[in-house]
Amino acid sequence: METLTRVKVLNPANPNKATAIFGGEASGILNWNDIAHPHFYTLRQRIRALFWTANEVDMTQDVKQFSSLTKEEQSAFLKIIGLLATLDGPQTVIAMKIADFTTDPSVKSILATIADQESEHNHSYAYVLSSVTNLDKQMEAFEMGRTDEVLMKRNERIVDVYNEFAENPTIETVLKAMVYTTLLEGLFFYSGFAFFYNLARHQKMVGTSTMISYINRDELQHGKAISDIFRAALAENPEYNTDEFTEWIYDQFRHSVEQEVIWSRYVLAGIDGLELEEMEGYIKYRANKMLRMLGLSEIYPEFTDNPMKWIRAYVDNFDDTKTDFFEQTSRQYVKTSDLNGFDDL
Ligand code: ZN
Ligand code: ZN
Repeated sequence: METLTRVKVLNPANPNKATAIFGGEASGILNWNDIAHPHFYTLRQRIRALFWTANEVDMTQDVKQFSSLTKEEQSAFLKIIGLLATLDGPQTVIAMKIADFTTDPSVKSILATIADQESEHNHSYAYVLSSVTNLDKQMEAFEMGRTDEVLMKRNERIVDVYNEFAENPTIETVLKAMVYTTLLEGLFFYSGFAFFYNLARHQKMVGTSTMISYINRDELQHGKAISDIFRAALAENPEYNTDEFTEWIYDQFRHSVEQEVIWSRYVLAGIDGLELEEMEGYIKYRANKMLRMLGLSEIYPEFTDNPMKWIRAYVDNFDDTKTDFFEQTSRQYVKTSDLNGFDDL
């Protein structure tokens, strides 16, 4: 299998418009009005429209409230932040690594903006923890990704697939890494997100949940962008579009859903207001959505609709009228209505 080579910065002998997403030729000069996949322009615009920083989220109430949470809630809170941080750190890196090997400068540019947001997500977890707990507990939450058995087991395949691409970059390994990126953006974060929204609907830790909702919106757009790039790259390399590869993807989704369900039962047991059965349905519903985005079929026909109805108010229906849902000083960044449409994500 042919190894992808790291792309030069500038190569004036090549045309400005890339000849392929991977393994093609391009000068390195990016003109958004002359790109190979014109709809990538919109992908970038939608991501850029979501700009925010952690420090603008007011944590004063959360600081006071954290110690009044139940023991189970406090423990889940720290574990879930630990999980999210474990996933979002590498998301910064994988976006940059894929960017190193794409020959399409528009894809590089999209990945640069995704990497930037992932780095803010990662920062936001440290910001939240430093607001609500002491340094020892903060350190412990960030150690989870390398010490907690359940979490490590859950992340095993992500580690394998991401590292395989890093060590052996080929069309196949980058396609597989993008499948996992889609899984992270569209599935792995969501039981964690649901935990914070559940606290918010009981008027607890609203600052943290507001921040989580910003991260959630970013992830939805990232998932859309990455799955679109994946489909375009696969179309350019039809020899990889085989039954075997399709089966591999379905298998990863089934496995990921299993792992996510195990994880949610481990971390969310004893949390008031969260039904574990319902959570399992929500996870399967998210898997169906992401499979559709990758151009594949749903594998959980009984979960084509979101079974966790209450969560729609927080994520599924984000639009202009709901941006102030948590009644925080809110974001003014998303202004034009055509940038919405989160229902489709
Ligand atoms: Zn993220
Ligand atoms: Zn993301």
